[in-house]
Amino acid sequence: MVASLYGVHEEEKVIWILLEHTNGRLENVSLEILSKGRQLADESDWSLTALLIGHHVRGLAEEAFTYGVDELWLVDHPLLEQFTVDAYTHVAYQALMEGRPSIFLCGATVNGRDLAGRLAVRLKTGLNADCTDLRLNAKTGVLTSEVTGFGGGVLALLESPEHRPQMSTVRPGVFPQGDAVGDRTGKVVEMQVELEKRVIRTRIVERVTGEGVDLTKAPILVCGGRGIAGKFEMLEELANLLEGEIGATRPPVDEGHIERERQVGQTGVVCRPKVAFACGISGAFHFIVGIENADLVVAINSDPEAPIFEHADYGIVGDALQVVPALIKAIQVSQGVNHA
Ligand SMILES: Cc1cc2nc3c(=O)[nH]c(=O)nc-3n(C[C@H](O)[C@H](O)[C@H](O)COP(=O)(O)OP(=O)(O)OC[C@H]3O[C@@H](n4cnc5c(N)ncnc54)[C@H](O)[C@@H]3O)c2cc1C
Repeated sequence: MVASLYGVHEEEKVIWILLEHTNGRLENVSLEILSKGRQLADESDWSLTALLIGHHVRGLAEEAFTYGVDELWLVDHPLLEQFTVDAYTHVAYQALMEGRPSIFLCGATVNGRDLAGRLAVRLKTGLNADCTDLRLNAKTGVLTSEVTGFGGGVLALLESPEHRPQMSTVRPGVFPQGDAVGDRTGKVVEMQVELEKRVIRTRIVERVTGEGVDLTKAPILVCGGRGIAGKFEMLEELANLLEGEIGATRPPVDEGHIERERQVGQTGVVCRPKVAFACGISGAFHFIVGIENADLVVAINSDPEAPIFEHADYGIVGDALQVVPALIKAIQVSQGVNHA
């Protein structure tokens, strides 16, 4: 077995979390992992450190402290203004080798996945990708990461007892964000890193931000499956009335009825709405993981035996193509909307 660059006996009992940010704001996934990290650190009497990489990003430190960070390592450099995997790997590697944390976590985002994979190889350690839960054994210091495997058929618990740091990426929406506590503060450690332009093999020509929807922020989610036969306009009307968003299972996405960014589930988005409607959806595991954290689930399915009803707080057995329009009418009446 190849040894990691630093081992159990050289580690610091600290949980490190990478802070991702866009347009001067910390990403929700980073705040979610901070909240979980704080909980694990408290349970084990460890400390929590955030790694903030960028340029002119010092202002984000205050917000990180309100989410429970004890210490924030800041790497500020003009060449870090935009994420490039070469530059971020280069400096994160230097920071990790200096801080030697026992655990390093980051979001299972496009950039987080890219960075974590490269770092794990450089550090000669393992990487548990796309985790759905984390536990820390306070006695042994071993992190247990829960992941779904074999297409969602099994839940696997992964540990790296011999390698450091113990690295995991966590999917957005898996952990609740927790509350910021206004008067919390911490220490900023400004790190000087060596970074030269020649390290960066990519050149950012233009940054284009799509007008994409972020389903993880929707308080109400109206999801449609194969059973609604592509009638997403109907779901859109319901979602608009409730100030929510529409989502979908994989089949209607594959059939081109709706954009892929609206796919909910294991290979889609994991959401945490107040209310999730599941219309014409059977309730396959792959979909359920995307809504299981909803406060309330309402299922509409013509098959009384459909597995979705096992996950629903309210179940309506009926044809969604009739039930949803009736629901829309009832809501319009209750809202005093004139739809003559
Ligand atoms: C590796 C892997 C990853 C996957 N990732 C995802 C994922 O991220 N998200 C996802 O959703 N799926 C995913 N899938 C697919 C998943 O396994 C299911 O096939 C899918 O969720 C089923 O979608 P569905 O419920 O819309 O369709 P079906 O399973 O076909 O169910 C349709 C339901 O509609 C009901 N129905 C039919 N007509 C009506 C009507 N008029 N009114 C009311 N009800 C009606 C039927 O009774 C049935 O229960 C993945 C699969 C694999 C192998």
